[in-house]
Amino acid sequence: MSEQGDRHMPGQGLINGLAVTLKTMTKRSSTQQYPDVEPDLPPRSRGVIALLEENCTVCMLCARECPDWCIYIDSHKEEVVVPGAARARQRNVLDKFDIDFSLCMYCGICIEVCPFDALHWTPEFEYAETDVLNLLHDKDRLGDWMRTVPPPPAHDVLGEPSKEEATAARKAAGPGAATPAKTARPAVRPEPEK
Ligand code: SF4
Ligand code: SF4
Repeated sequence: MSEQGDRHMPGQGLINGLAVTLKTMTKRSSTQQYPDVEPDLPPRSRGVIALLEENCTVCMLCARECPDWCIYIDSHKEEVVVPGAARARQRNVLDKFDIDFSLCMYCGICIEVCPFDALHWTPEFEYAETDVLNLLHDKDRLGDWMRTVPPPPAHDVLGEPSKEEATAARKAAGPGAATPAKTARPAVRPEPEK
């Protein structure tokens, strides 16, 4: 029978509908009982952004690159006297670091561009507010989220050591010593275990 004939057969729509219902009834339900049962999210889910204040040098890269302009930073300069230095040095002191989550689109650009690992994703997503103004998180609140940031993934044992690690190891070994970059890594990648 043609497709058009099918469409005009009396009761065909009802039969098709019942067939879909029966098929669905025999399948396992994928409904999650949130909020009674917490969803099992991947550890790197994008919930909220956390700030590790001591890592922030107020370089302003994150605020400049944010496409929504929803990062507000303020700082002042402070003199630091270094023993033996000819002149006192200056450093930036963070006064204000706010993110407006009512504007944020969770693109993660601020986290990607931060050169000092001061911004991190946490999988916490339950920070709904009844007043939109409360979605402006200040540096204390952003800092509070740090306790929910999952630990970083383990280093790749076959990866290149960082420049800092290589320099520290070279200094520790003394002049003329072989560097860990030359000695620690096997020349050939080992075969994966079967
Ligand atoms: S995630 Fe994107 S939109 Fe949100 S603060 Fe960072 S850069 Fe801005
Ligand atoms: S990019 Fe990182 S270090 Fe620079 S102001 Fe933003 S959070 Fe601070």
